[in-house]
Amino acid sequence: MGKFPYLKKAGEAGFRDSQVIKAHEIIHPWDGESQISGIGLIGAPLSKPSISLSGASQTPGVIRQMFSTLSTYAIEQETDLAEETITDFGDVEMHLTDIPASHDRIYETLTSVLKDQPGLVPIVLGGDHSISYPSIRAFSENRRKVGIIQFDAHHDLRNREDGGTGNGTPFRALIEEGVISGDQLIQIGIRNFSNSQPYHQYGKDHGVTIYTMKDVREQRLTDILHQSIQQLKAHVDFIYVSLDMDVLDQAFAPGCPAIGPGGMTSDDLLEGIEMLAKEPMVKGMDIVEIDPTVDFRNMTSKLAAFIILTFMLHRG
Ligand code: CA
Repeated sequence: MGKFPYLKKAGEAGFRDSQVIKAHEIIHPWDGESQISGIGLIGAPLSKPSISLSGASQTPGVIRQMFSTLSTYAIEQETDLAEETITDFGDVEMHLTDIPASHDRIYETLTSVLKDQPGLVPIVLGGDHSISYPSIRAFSENRRKVGIIQFDAHHDLRNREDGGTGNGTPFRALIEEGVISGDQLIQIGIRNFSNSQPYHQYGKDHGVTIYTMKDVREQRLTDILHQSIQQLKAHVDFIYVSLDMDVLDQAFAPGCPAIGPGGMTSDDLLEGIEMLAKEPMVKGMDIVEIDPTVDFRNMTSKLAAFIILTFMLHRG
């Protein structure tokens, strides 16, 4: 630094290899004006509406940090993302105490961004799963009829009388408020001992398509996704992917508050992300339910960053 060649700025990496580009170097803050075509990040750091204690409000920042642990080079495809850009729109500022007000801020922000940025494919970084409710509402009103592919261990169709609009209710809220009908929703990875019969029944009664983990084990995830995309294509205008990381087995996602056994492998999920990235109907995504305060070596946030790079790689 200046006169002292061995002094580096505080916080800079201890060692810098001149021949390695780290993924955080391709993430640039939005300049407040440019039209973005392609992927953009928007943080929704809200976890107060979580059923169990969750520090998921810290996750957008931790996922951003995890890009600095990954390089831009995809050896399998011999492709380097170094010349690409991921635009970072920053985080939605949450109300300190008022959860519906925070949901409204997510809705209003995404509505404004979607109107202003027609070519943008937003990846919304949660936060807990409650953020999908205002996010999908905004998408639905601004990008015509939405189809949803939800990766999740849980239906998230809980009643709202017992506890309001929280992280167990986003899809119930969307159906009850007429934002979507059940046939616009496909749930993949739902598993045993993590749900109750009335909510399974609610999904069936409302025409939700449900693939359990048994379905995922017995069919290839890519076959399920192929079928899901065809099914949605027949009656929606675009697809939104809602990725609850607890769809993964606890071995792969230790940082999820409601994690358990019997879930997907990260390989399965990455193969699915590759397929979804190649599908032009996919116009938005959220990644939710990572709590960095219970994670192990930020494994789950690092996987989220890996998923975003995988999506970008195969988006082409
Ligand atoms: Ca969920």
